[in-house]
Amino acid sequence: MASDVQMQNLLNPHLSGLEEYTPIQPFEVLSRRLGIPAEQIVKLDANENPYGPLPAVAEALAEYPYYHIYPDPQQSELREALSDFVGVPAAHILPGQGADELLDYICRLFLSPGDAIINTPPTFGMYSFDAKLQGGQVIDVWRREDYSVDVEGIERGLEAGDWGSGTAAPSPLPTPQSPVPKILFLTSPNNPSGTWLADDDLRRLLALPLLVVLDEAYVEFANPPSRADWVLTHDNLVVLRTFSKAAGIAGLRLGYGIFPAWLMPTLWKFKQPYNVNVAASVAGLASLRHTDQIVAVVEKLKSERDRLYAELAAIPYLRPNPSEANFVLCRVEGRDAGGLKQSLERQGILVRYYNKPGLDNCIRISVGRPEQTDRLLAVLRML
Ligand SMILES: *Cc1c(COP(=O)(O)O)cnc(C)c1O
Repeated sequence: MASDVQMQNLLNPHLSGLEEYTPIQPFEVLSRRLGIPAEQIVKLDANENPYGPLPAVAEALAEYPYYHIYPDPQQSELREALSDFVGVPAAHILPGQGADELLDYICRLFLSPGDAIINTPPTFGMYSFDAKLQGGQVIDVWRREDYSVDVEGIERGLEAGDWGSGTAAPSPLPTPQSPVPKILFLTSPNNPSGTWLADDDLRRLLALPLLVVLDEAYVEFANPPSRADWVLTHDNLVVLRTFSKAAGIAGLRLGYGIFPAWLMPTLWKFKQPYNVNVAASVAGLASLRHTDQIVAVVEKLKSERDRLYAELAAIPYLRPNPSEANFVLCRVEGRDAGGLKQSLERQGILVRYYNKPGLDNCIRISVGRPEQTDRLLAVLRML
């Protein structure tokens, strides 16, 4: 019989360097551990929408009669509704099982072992995760102190083919044999900083010989508008959006990409036929029939974000970063952010804690309902 080691040797060799996944405790488990009923937990750690799905979503899900039938592989109805919503022809739109699935597709379509992506940390973790799954390398061009993208650093690195000096580092650099970057991942508003990427910067980056993936998971919360329609005039731009944040259905897994025309035929051949399940598309369609209600929820969250930011700024040991998203990143000064996270958790308030380059001693707080903000602030002022 073959041994485990022999079997392990059959694995794709580039998978051996993957980092271990840090599991997130399910909400119910945490509620039991803390001895606090789930409905009393103030969950501000994952940028979910505290108002949840629109009432029309629950109704549509309850009434839908065809769960025993496979989904439409082309998602035609959903793509038409998305086209009206985004203002881009349906021929450019591909729904996915969350924006996350589309990030994975993009990496699998473009990267072979030895290819690279350009990443702009601190940012969302899935870009480097998906690139490494493909054996891709990650070139980190660190954001500046104010979390803006180091556009010159990216331009200089590409020009020189050398990433050692261009980065505003705290990073060592990756490149054993100068891999060729193919994809630049950008996030606007950025997670976890909430930073907007200016039009001029995006235009300069689009002039580079790279596929630019602009992740707009939080764009509904921003004051400047989405750049989804730029895909129609830029052949190297992909824009990703999601129903997880503004539309409040993170658990149902529904996102979509706006892709240039030349890439669509390959995507159609490549994608899993039934990637988007029926419940997700029923919920997505119901949400899109009531975009006025989504806008109303988003407006509530935006004004709550502005109140949260102002209140956090008045707490002496916190330095909140201005945000265009539904969360606020805070640097913690003169005390330990990890300890602060734990003290909040004991009171049933969950926030995200970071302690890594660019995010040392930080917490990120998602925008909740006003009464949740009040509970958070009361504890923060007491600590
Ligand atoms: C939450 C998030 C996503 C994931 O969206 P899903 O549609 O839930 O997969 C993508 N990008 C960023 C930056 C996010 O924070």
